[in-house]
Amino acid sequence: MPEPEVAGSGPVLVVSAHAGDFVWRAAGAMALAAARGDRVTVLCLSYGERGESAKAWLDGKKLDEIKAIRREEATKAAEMLGASIEFLDAGDYPLRETPELVDEIVRVYRQVVPAIVLTHTLSDPYNPDHPAAARMALQARVLAQAIGYDAPGEPLGAPPVFLFEPHQPEQCDFKPDVLLDITDVFDAKRAAMECLPAQVGLLHRAGQAARRPASPQRRAQPGAGAHHHGRGLHARLPADN
Ligand SMILES: [Zn+2]
Repeated sequence: MPEPEVAGSGPVLVVSAHAGDFVWRAAGAMALAAARGDRVTVLCLSYGERGESAKAWLDGKKLDEIKAIRREEATKAAEMLGASIEFLDAGDYPLRETPELVDEIVRVYRQVVPAIVLTHTLSDPYNPDHPAAARMALQARVLAQAIGYDAPGEPLGAPPVFLFEPHQPEQCDFKPDVLLDITDVFDAKRAAMECLPAQVGLLHRAGQAARRPASPQRRAQPGAGAHHHGRGLHARLPADN
């Protein structure tokens, strides 16, 4: 394995609405962080069992079977990226924003103590679960900082939050301001994508994007763009700009 070029910047927490999202959207950033020795944890709020498992439904699978399949796929994908994974099984389509779910996310923050957080954009007209996950990730981050909040662990610092590139960036008000060069870890991202055979179409799309000539809007490998949210841009991810 090549020597990591960037010093470790601390644990990374990825908050993913559905079990597959982190693979398409953040796998490169996750693999880069793991390669430089940082602990990476992905938190899947749901399995994407209703909204992002069309093939399994068409194959006649039942809800519980679909959840089990998605759990296994996502677990393997996380392994390919050197990340650990947790599932909250909160249900999708819709992913409901509840105080109980936010509280569970707070507990994960206090446990992981992230130096960097990655999640969805706050706008996605085609998939309300994604902004819902982002809103809860941001709310939980603030609550986890409060000394009086009743959850195990110490109050959190103020980890910077990066919003990963959505499926249709132009429709989601996505303006990347951090670009990661994931060339060195693209094999890991590919291996993770291959763990999700039902969504293999996205892999082809990602491969095409990777081969596309660079432009000011799209200089990074697929999934490598990120939009920084909030304050405290101290722990910068390595950018290629
Ligand atoms: Zn999703």
